[in-house]
Amino acid sequence: MASEDVKGIVLVSGGVTSHVAIIARSLKLPMIIAERSDLLKLPDGTPMLLDADIGSIYAAPSETIIQRFEIRNQAQKAEVRATRPILVQTKTRDGESVKLLANINLLSEIKLAKDLNVEGIGLYRTEFPFLVRSNLPSEEEQYLVYKRLCDEMRDREITIRTLDIGGKKLLPYLEGTKEANPELGLRSIRFSLHHREVFLQQLRAILRAGADTGKLKIVFPMISAIDEFRQARHAVEEAMVDLARKKLPFHPSPALGAMIELPAVLDIIHELAKEADFFSIGTNDLIQYLLAVDRTNERVAAYYQPYHPSVLRSLHRIIQAAVKADIEVTVCGEMGHEPEFIPFFIGAGLRIFSVDPHFLRSVQEKIINLSVSQATAYARALLAEPTLEGIQALLRSQKGRKIAD
Ligand code: PEP
Ligand code: MG
Repeated sequence: MASEDVKGIVLVSGGVTSHVAIIARSLKLPMIIAERSDLLKLPDGTPMLLDADIGSIYAAPSETIIQRFEIRNQAQKAEVRATRPILVQTKTRDGESVKLLANINLLSEIKLAKDLNVEGIGLYRTEFPFLVRSNLPSEEEQYLVYKRLCDEMRDREITIRTLDIGGKKLLPYLEGTKEANPELGLRSIRFSLHHREVFLQQLRAILRAGADTGKLKIVFPMISAIDEFRQARHAVEEAMVDLARKKLPFHPSPALGAMIELPAVLDIIHELAKEADFFSIGTNDLIQYLLAVDRTNERVAAYYQPYHPSVLRSLHRIIQAAVKADIEVTVCGEMGHEPEFIPFFIGAGLRIFSVDPHFLRSVQEKIINLSVSQATAYARALLAEPTLEGIQALLRSQKGRKIAD
C-alpha cells in the first residue's frame, strides 16, 4: 500500500476534517497543514522533521534538533504507556448512560478499539479499500474485508457505511468521474444509486459478512431526500433477494440509517425519522454544506465554524426529531470529540457518540465529569444565542470547566 514507507504528511493545502487528515490519523501518521507552496520546491531526498504537536516543519534539521526530538519522543511514549486507563461503561455524573462507539477507517484500528473495550463500531468508512486499489474490489474481496470487521467485533454492534466515493475521493480507475465541482457532484449515495451494480455488490458483501452479527446497521451517506433513502432501501431488498436465490447466508434484517449531513433534509427531518431506523450525524459535511465552506480548503478555514448558530440549531433539530421518533441518533463527525461541544450534544439530547478510537478516552473523561442538568442549561444558552461572537464567549467560559452539579 502507498502509505507503507511514509512517516509523516505535509499538506500544502487542506483542512483538518479532510479525508486525507482523517486517514492520516488512522495510520497514526503525523500531519501538518502548511500554506507553503515553496515546500514543494525542496529537492527530493531533503530530510524533513515534522513536529506535528505544534505544527513546525524543519527542512534538513541539525543534529541537535534531531536529538532534542528523539529525547522528547521517548518521554511521550513512556507517558502514554503509564496513563492508559481501560474504558468501562460511560455514565454522566447524574447517572445517565451514554454509548461510546468507534469510527474505523482501516482494519488496523480494530485492535485499539477492542483493547479499549469499545461497545461497538459506530461508523466504518468502506471507501478506503476502494481507494487504495487499482481496480474495483470484487464482491468476494469486499466480503473478506467486512467479514474480518464483523468477526473481530462479534457480539458488538457494527455500523457499516456504504461507499462515500466522489468529491475529493476519486477512484482513478473509473472513467469519466472528473467533475468541475466534485463536492456538489455525483458523490456518495448518488454514485451508488447511479452505479447500481457496484452498489448491489457492496450490499451483498455487507449482508453476507454480517450474517452472524447480532446488531448489523447499514448507513447511507449524504441522503438528500426521503425518496433517495427509499431507493437505497430497495437496493438492500434486491441484494437480499439475490443472496436468497444463490442460497448464501446473510443478515436478514439490518437496521438501515441515514447519514444526516445535508441541509436539504432539515425541513423533512421528522418524516425522514419515520422512514429511517437510525440517524448518524456527519458534522464534517453538514458544516461544509450548511455554511458553503469547502472543508478541505485552508483559505476558507476561518469560515468553517462548528459553533455557527445555524449549525448548533440544526444539530438540535436533528437530535430532537430522532428522540421524538424514538430512533437512535449518533454523532460521528469530528465535532463529537471536541471538549466544548460534548456538553452541548448531551444537553441537546444526544446519547451516542462515535469517535476515532484515539479520542475515546478523552470523550469518556469529559462525559463522566458532566451532569445532564447543567449540560441542558449550557445547550439552551448556546441555542438562544444568535451571534458567532456570543457563542464563542459562551464556549470560552465553559472551556476547561467541569459541567457538574
Ligand atoms: C461527516 O461528514 O461528518 C462524516 C462522518 O463523514 P466523512 O467525514 O467521511 O465525510
Ligand atoms: Mg460525510
